[in-house]
Amino acid sequence: MPDWLTLSYTCPIEITHGEGRRVWDAEGLRYLDFYGGILTTMTAHALPEVTAAVAGQAARVLHTSTLYLNRRMVELAERVAALSGIPDARVFFTTSGTEANDAALLLATAHRGSHQVLAMRNSYHGRSFSTVSVTGNSAWSPTSYSPFQTLYVHGGTRCRGPFAAMSDAEFIRACIADLEDVLGQAHGRVAALIAEPVQGVGGFTSPPDGLYAAFRRVLDRHGILWISDEVQTGWGRTGDHFWGWQAHGEAGPPDALTFAKGIGNGMSVGGVVARAEVMNSLGAHSISTFGGSPVTMAAALANLTYLLEHDLQGNARRVGGLLIQRLRAVTAGVPAVREVRGRGLMIGIEFAGADGAPWPRAAELAMEHTREEGLLVGRGGREGHVLRIAPPLTLTVAEAEEGAELLATAVRRTQAVLE
Ligand code: PLP
Repeated sequence: MPDWLTLSYTCPIEITHGEGRRVWDAEGLRYLDFYGGILTTMTAHALPEVTAAVAGQAARVLHTSTLYLNRRMVELAERVAALSGIPDARVFFTTSGTEANDAALLLATAHRGSHQVLAMRNSYHGRSFSTVSVTGNSAWSPTSYSPFQTLYVHGGTRCRGPFAAMSDAEFIRACIADLEDVLGQAHGRVAALIAEPVQGVGGFTSPPDGLYAAFRRVLDRHGILWISDEVQTGWGRTGDHFWGWQAHGEAGPPDALTFAKGIGNGMSVGGVVARAEVMNSLGAHSISTFGGSPVTMAAALANLTYLLEHDLQGNARRVGGLLIQRLRAVTAGVPAVREVRGRGLMIGIEFAGADGAPWPRAAELAMEHTREEGLLVGRGGREGHVLRIAPPLTLTVAEAEEGAELLATAVRRTQAVLE
């Protein structure tokens, strides 16, 4: 794991408290939070509804385990299943995105009786043995050993290489040809394709709408399951859609989707939703001791209710659309900024040198400068050359404009240092 992913700043910030879209550090400095922890503060810091739900549940019972009926877990499972779009859906709760993907991979490989898995280049799916084994960048994986035979395919990003100059339709055709070619070389049955609808750690890059619909047609011919990793893209963050897979509408719902990060607004909630037929492959003895604990379920229920009642998906679309335009405007003419891209409140600013090569040093400096300006952002991209912006979904227009100005100053300062 490269340092830039784990330690964002040269001197770590100690956050002591937060409110809304603001946080304060131990020295009393205030920041506008454009990263929400790491997409974990989905609605807002110290949202009273979530705080009250956690405190209320904590005062009754913190934890019971799946040996007992847990009403909060059942309620959340029913709501998530209904929202997932997956027919006859079942939910299994975990405490992280890694475990959610691990469970989905376990399901798919058991269901299909195969340990061959398709994954995307430049993908990120977590830190366990199974999930690093489907993560498409060796920098994010400490081992080349794998419980799977992983077959990597193109499609998640086309920033560089032979795909860069293609139209959307050409790109989709090329990716399908690549997929067919890879399948042609597989040893018989393939269990599943696991893919992020928008690559998160990979630098907020989206394939063209419709790519997964085209993939789906090929996968269906082979009976291969589709797992959509919605750990970053779920719950309306991408603005136009509640789930990332819906940008490929024609594809229909995936066979399984995984979620985590924002649903608990900072509490450890993850999970997998799958068709009952697939979920049943897990067997009756599958228990996660802490997955679905009442206090985390109470937080997630309150958070989800707030999100839906306040149409935060609509807010992500409106404010995200405005923010991306403002960011493009304020960074136009800054040579080190190659591209501002994104969907909803998931926006990447990519830095590149004059030759178009990724420029991680520029992103590193920009990150320090944003901090000095009082703005928190994240980093990503294969080389760490992309600033990632993913604020809580309650971001206001005034805060979006304020943040864009702070970013503009930070980026201009960065450019001046680089010259
Ligand atoms: N999947 C995606 C798309 C992610 O971005 C991440 C984390 O960044 C994970 C899975 C792993 O989630 P966690 O860190 O909660 O284990």
